[in-house]
Amino acid sequence: MARYTGPKCRYCRAERAKLFLKGSKCLSAKCPMNNPMESGLPGRDPKARAKKPTDYALMLRAKQRLKRIYCMLEKQFKLTFNEASRMGGKTGDNLIALLERRLDNVVFRMHFACSRPQAAQLISHGHIFVNGRRVDIPSYRVKVGDEIEVSAKGKNMLIVKENLLEVGKSGVASWLSVDADNMKGQFNNIPERVEVRELEGVNEQLVVELYSR
Ligand code: SF4
Repeated sequence: MARYTGPKCRYCRAERAKLFLKGSKCLSAKCPMNNPMESGLPGRDPKARAKKPTDYALMLRAKQRLKRIYCMLEKQFKLTFNEASRMGGKTGDNLIALLERRLDNVVFRMHFACSRPQAAQLISHGHIFVNGRRVDIPSYRVKVGDEIEVSAKGKNMLIVKENLLEVGKSGVASWLSVDADNMKGQFNNIPERVEVRELEGVNEQLVVELYSR
């Protein structure tokens, strides 16, 4: 599976927003977005920084932001968008619902991992079971009622135990339930767009407009 392996903080600087791509490190004082000297746009062209964004630039930024939050590359993101546009109803809502059903996202939201990239690694290393069967594909689409569980080996991993402490601190998303003691959880329903509070600043309608041009 192709994936981006470059510096993740660069993405946050480009979007001028914290995308929380590095788990707990994002909450520390070392996050470059907390430092005005380091949080500017990446690159050295001062003219590019000063320009007023065009409509196209705004649509592009919205798409890049959503794609980067879910740690996807362009081809996979576009395929997901195409699928969302073939479904009935609002394409933007369908897109968010499909993104939320990715296994790496669900593992992250259940706090088995502290970030989506870490969740993807846990999955591809065979530490995640869906309905009792090992699934090693981060883009695997979770269905309503599916039970997600950490493998026996994964249950002994300190990093997973530490991540699960977050369940007690911040709880879990309303469409999921997690049994932290047994390191398993259930995907109870597909979330409505308004329920996905992490995406409050994201305008998926701009993504629809961009791909409809
Ligand atoms: Fe973004 Fe996290 Fe890097 Fe901060 S530490 S810039 S939130 S990836």
